[in-house]
Amino acid sequence: MALKDVFSTKGIKTTAASKILKDYIPDFDATVTKKLMDAGCILLGKANTDEFTMGSSTENSYFGPTKNPWNLERVPGGSSGGSAAAVSADECVFALGTDTGGSIRQPSSFCSTVGLKVTYGLVSRFGVVSYASSFDTIGPITKTVEDAAIVLNHIAGHDVDDSTTTRDKLPDYTTFLRSDLKGKKIGLPKEFFGEGLNNEVARILENAKSMLESLGAEVVDVSLPMTKYAIATYYVLVKSEASSNLSRYDGIRYGLSAIKSKDSGLRTPDVGLSLSDVYLQSRTEGFGSEAKRSIMMGTYTLSSGYFDAYYLKAAKVRTKIKEEYEKILSEVDVLMAPVSPFPAFKIGEKLDDPLSMYKADADTVPINTAGIPAMSVPAGFTESGLPVGIQIIGPMMGEGKIFEVASAFEKAAKISDIKPKL
Ligand code: GLN
Repeated sequence: MALKDVFSTKGIKTTAASKILKDYIPDFDATVTKKLMDAGCILLGKANTDEFTMGSSTENSYFGPTKNPWNLERVPGGSSGGSAAAVSADECVFALGTDTGGSIRQPSSFCSTVGLKVTYGLVSRFGVVSYASSFDTIGPITKTVEDAAIVLNHIAGHDVDDSTTTRDKLPDYTTFLRSDLKGKKIGLPKEFFGEGLNNEVARILENAKSMLESLGAEVVDVSLPMTKYAIATYYVLVKSEASSNLSRYDGIRYGLSAIKSKDSGLRTPDVGLSLSDVYLQSRTEGFGSEAKRSIMMGTYTLSSGYFDAYYLKAAKVRTKIKEEYEKILSEVDVLMAPVSPFPAFKIGEKLDDPLSMYKADADTVPINTAGIPAMSVPAGFTESGLPVGIQIIGPMMGEGKIFEVASAFEKAAKISDIKPKL
């Protein structure tokens, strides 16, 4: 397996692709690292990511960008782009990624892998470098839907070290795999199919819809009017949480100046610097531009005078979005939507335009805002050979329903077997 470089690995560097953690070696394993090692997995490597998982292209890495195995001039998506590229290029059997706003599903769509974003709280986050703690989820990136079910069986469940994890008794996810969809009702949320959807992606989704129908499903149009508020709500909330989470990288507890003294083994700041200089120097040198942008945005939205107008308002809208999904998903089994409005874009294309990078997450962030599970399943290719996945969205703790639909679709579509020419 490969692990995105935010999963703590005892004795092995865990950098979160940040300069500020470039030499950080944890002395413990994340819960999921330990669970998979105990199950017999062999760790082949740590996979590249956007710094602190902030991004949609894996270009925000201190170590440089990852390339898309299907087209080396294109991004693999992000932030779990290293994980998706490694699985798609057959460098490992599976990888783990994290998904705060799309970081498992969007790279999976761009690289033709299966990527599962789980219900918030299904998988332990203990020992995983955080971005936005009330959104972060952990899940598998695999070559098949069955592999995703097998990996999920090993990582899901309660952890005493993560109080947000579920105490529910969980099913064996491989029991949901099937080959027809008789009796299933699938909703297509019209807000995901409107303006901005690339023609070729639209064509692949249209084919996917016909395939789901031919497998016996009833496909109906539904509406989620709150969708238009999702990007703004998501970015206000995650950047607020991120600015708080990043405060621990201060040069003392973690960070560049936190060097180990040879004699005492204690962490000591650079000689001759005042405490505030240590903070300033460590953070100025250690963070890349998206991390700094997060700190600025998040500090602003949390500051007195702006808290009510931004953070509190976004928190209320989040509840509205959640309620809207709850209602729709009590009327249909799952929803089907694009993962991304367009296929993999060129390296560098959106790097100087953070807003257009944020907008690239339009189809994934609503799901994280609602806290529900969703999977990207390979569905086809554009004329120039770029992969496109479809997104299957399920209700809270409804991973089983996603596995049912995704497995039947995968068997019929036969896209997962196609490999990039490398
Ligand atoms: N691109 C999104 C962001 O930067 C999502 C990232 C993620 O899911 N980790 O917030």
